[in-house]
Amino acid sequence: MRAIDYVAVQDAPAALEKLSARPMETSLVAGGTNLLDLMKLHVRNPALLVDINGLPLDQVEELEGGALRIGTLVRNSDLANHRLVRERYPVLSQALLAGASPQLRNMATLGGNILQRTRCAYFRDVSQACNKREPGTGCAALEGYNRMHAVLGTSNQCIAANPSDMNVALVALDASIQLRGPEGERDVPFAAFHLEPGTHPERETVLKPGELITHVTLPASGFASRSRYVKVRDRASYAFALASAAVALQLEEGTIQDARVALGGVGTRPWRSTEAEAVLIGQKADEVRFKAAAAAALKGAKTRTHNAFKVDLARRTLVRALSLTAGLV
Ligand SMILES: Cc1cc2nc3c(=O)[nH]c(=O)nc-3n(C[C@H](O)[C@H](O)[C@H](O)COP(=O)(O)OP(=O)(O)OC[C@H]3O[C@@H](n4cnc5c(N)ncnc54)[C@H](O)[C@@H]3O)c2cc1C
Ligand code: SF4
Repeated sequence: MRAIDYVAVQDAPAALEKLSARPMETSLVAGGTNLLDLMKLHVRNPALLVDINGLPLDQVEELEGGALRIGTLVRNSDLANHRLVRERYPVLSQALLAGASPQLRNMATLGGNILQRTRCAYFRDVSQACNKREPGTGCAALEGYNRMHAVLGTSNQCIAANPSDMNVALVALDASIQLRGPEGERDVPFAAFHLEPGTHPERETVLKPGELITHVTLPASGFASRSRYVKVRDRASYAFALASAAVALQLEEGTIQDARVALGGVGTRPWRSTEAEAVLIGQKADEVRFKAAAAAALKGAKTRTHNAFKVDLARRTLVRALSLTAGLV
């Protein structure tokens, strides 16, 4: 039995004070649905748990100009069902509702979902080699069973996929993340928040030790009427994405004025494809163009023994999402 200290805090300064005392040994608890899972598997072994559920960060606020600022403790169910999110960012609502189960969504928070760890089975099994869990030990997935793993943004040290559905919608919507730490507050574009594994798969985000996510801001968007999240998974009940696509289009008389494309289940980070967007913008919204965009999105894919099927699956998922969004099917 290992002793763990637990403290519940009521405001951000108290959370930061606890975090900065011993940042490497402390974990924040939000919904707890990912952290406590990993603690039971001995993948995470914090000495101090700081429960942040008392922080006043559970609101969705409308900012001047129409942007939305979402507190880190807003539960996934509440965010998915928020009137302004459903009206203005349907792709986000759909992505949230495609993730996990109703019970999990009732507990899971915005910040916890952004930071949830990979579902790579070798990462979750402490008897296996894993550079992400323990740098320098190797990667059991490279020559192991890698059907669920990424094909975009991989390195020869790690091929784990980012598991979040919500993150795919947030990167497509040009969200930004507000952070607060010992050196003050800073704002990071969502697309720059998650890191590719490279030679340091243990570093997954630009969050510094001792920092807290406080909010996510969604810019005012003209994409409300045409945005869509499509997720392909092994079963209809809760399951992580094999491939998914978050898409938003602005159309005028059948021509694409603006486009947003992001993929899930295939990338080591939430995967915005500006390459696919460039193929779409200024062109007619039809299947030929959508297939060209999907080919551009998957161009750099690198496959392993069991996950080669994901390339075609992701292409088809993206074509389906674009076709649904454009009203072609
Ligand atoms: C059976 C099962 C199925 C699932 N299926 C899906 C799925 O299909 N799609 C999907 O997207 N997800 C899925 N999930 C994952 C689920 O969405 C995550 O567990 C959840 O979103 C994590 O949120 P949380 O608030 O519980 O995080 P926690 O477990 O509380 O925290 C996760 C991490 O974030 C850190 N953290 C939390 N908040 C902050 C903050 N404000 N600042 C800094 N650090 C913070 C914690 O310290 C911890 O390291 C599934 C989970 C389970 C158990
Ligand atoms: S893919 Fe990444 S997370 Fe999975 S075993 Fe390899 S290093 Fe670890």
